[in-house]
Amino acid sequence: MAKKPIMGKEDLQYDLAVIGGGPGGYTAAIYGAKKKLKVALVEKDKLGGVCLNRGCIPTKTLINSANFYNKSKSSSKIGINLEGVTVDWSNVQKNKDQVVTNLRGGVQGLLKANGVTLYRGKASLIDKNTVAIDGESQDRIRAKNIIIATGSVPQKPPFAGGNLEGVISSDEALDFDDIPSSMVIVGGGVIGIEMAYIYNSFGTEVTIIEMLPDLLTGQDRDVIKEINRVLRRKKIKLLTNTRVMSVENDGGQLLVNYESKGEAGQVNAEKLLVAIGRKVLTSAVDNIGIAMDDKGIKVDERLRTNIANIYAIGDVTGKLMLAHVASKQAMKAVEDIVGIQAKMDYSIVPSCIYTNPEIASVGLNEEEARAKYGNVKIGKFPLGASGKAMTMGENIGFVKIVADGEWNEILGVHIVGPQATELIAEGALAIKLQCTVEELVDTIHAHPTLAENVMEASLDILDEAIHKIG
Ligand code: FAD
Repeated sequence: MAKKPIMGKEDLQYDLAVIGGGPGGYTAAIYGAKKKLKVALVEKDKLGGVCLNRGCIPTKTLINSANFYNKSKSSSKIGINLEGVTVDWSNVQKNKDQVVTNLRGGVQGLLKANGVTLYRGKASLIDKNTVAIDGESQDRIRAKNIIIATGSVPQKPPFAGGNLEGVISSDEALDFDDIPSSMVIVGGGVIGIEMAYIYNSFGTEVTIIEMLPDLLTGQDRDVIKEINRVLRRKKIKLLTNTRVMSVENDGGQLLVNYESKGEAGQVNAEKLLVAIGRKVLTSAVDNIGIAMDDKGIKVDERLRTNIANIYAIGDVTGKLMLAHVASKQAMKAVEDIVGIQAKMDYSIVPSCIYTNPEIASVGLNEEEARAKYGNVKIGKFPLGASGKAMTMGENIGFVKIVADGEWNEILGVHIVGPQATELIAEGALAIKLQCTVEELVDTIHAHPTLAENVMEASLDILDEAIHKIG
């Protein structure tokens, strides 16, 4: 089909064109429409992006099935006898796919309800106001402002044999026909650890290989220690300071060759999941001179690129590759477009890992706080002393609060335990509002709740934790 001619300057049909319909892009489109902008959204694949289709949502749905299975296996401890609990993998998959499909329909409905025009196809920028679409239609649209939200894709394996069958990324790890008998996971970051938890729960023999001395780089030391203990208990094998050198076919299995502290080693597995990070996707802007930095599209604190009316948000900026960062950047970019002075602040971003126990943290870890402020105070409350955690039969973990030594201002909150990923919102708000330990303690927390443990950890900074000995 012949391409339509580029329209004249006066024909800017839209106030805003958004490229990419992931959590960054669709939030920008909906928020833009709520701010009375005339908005177009271009998506080449499925609405919801990685988060909804291949990331946050499918993993958490699988984790829900894994948690349920784990709990049912030990339910007799709480007086509920469930005999012969088994996993019906095809229904685990079906449930996951249904959740994803329902939510995708929800996003489409929201776009429609807010009057966003949706174009299906691959977008590329022709000039600073014109987007060419290659898809169902061959439209060209023109907009005053453009937001690039094209996201990221998994990094390819950096070792020989990376293209063998059975060597996979997180995309394929969500859609196995059968539960693999064994899996090596390269990369001990959030995605690697969550996948390890899921498949270990369903009976896969899991080995994690991490190049660095520790898992979960950037987390508080106490959190890393606790999670190492948890992995050991679950019999997940962990090889740190270890680098995969190559992989080869070994009679239907994969043979993974690695080097650990100068020594060569090998491990067999049915699958090799490569979870070593993600690569930004910038082909939509290849031709118009958008400046890049070493991580992705270069943006300022208002998400502006080097071209005045073009913004970039989400994974493609290579900042913190998280859905909630993408959606917050989306709102800040839209606010800048409509003239609200809005700056993106990356210092208070909750980081969540949905294993069991869950892990969540926000703000500075102890090491960072000591480096920045010197004088800091630490409060810790173990879940073994928590009434609510005991009632739930989930008392592994702790709450740790890092506070400034002079004013007792809360600088960091780190939680390992049930519902840590929900509880962390209190920590984020406390840091955002520059809350002191005394103010948090003075706030009444309902009993019995897990949130009380955040209060107890704060009390511990004052040496006054009620339910802690010593
Ligand atoms: P994406 O979600 O990548 O969306 C980009 C969209 O742009 C895609 O739909 C793509 O098709 C489209 N696109 C690209 N190029 C073009 C083009 N030229 N034209 C038109 N459309 C285009 N984050 C969390 O916060 N919590 C989690 O629990 C979590 N779990 C994760 C688990 C896994 C296994 C993975 C892989 C990621 C996870 N993430 C999680 C990260 C999260 O998914 C991403 O940070 C988030 O999806 C980024 O959103 P985005 O809008 O920037 O990009």
